[in-house]
Amino acid sequence: MSVNINLSNIRKCICGKCPSFPGKLNEIVRFTMPGLYCAAGKSRSKIERKGCICKDCLVQIENSLLGSYYCIGGRAYVEARELIDKRDKPISTIAR
Ligand code: SF4
Ligand code: SF4
Repeated sequence: MSVNINLSNIRKCICGKCPSFPGKLNEIVRFTMPGLYCAAGKSRSKIERKGCICKDCLVQIENSLLGSYYCIGGRAYVEARELIDKRDKPISTIAR
């Protein structure tokens, strides 16, 4: 399962305030979504790592994501966090 691309998450995304954000216009001319990279996938722009503020984003928190630089590395998968949660539970409590 991946993070949902919806209006609510687009509004919560703070990529536009990030020092590494390549700029809305750069993204639009490359047919890339300007933000919400954790859901939409990586940017087609060349990105310089100047810091990532994903850890302060509600989308990251609400989906229990652990990563950063989704604009470079690509989308996040929610399973990773779910698998870690399941690992800590007794087998009998895990629905199959
Ligand atoms: S976690 Fe990062 S890429 Fe995803 S919506 Fe938030 S700021 Fe944007
Ligand atoms: S994914 Fe992280 S590094 Fe990339 S623009 Fe968004 S906040 Fe910045």
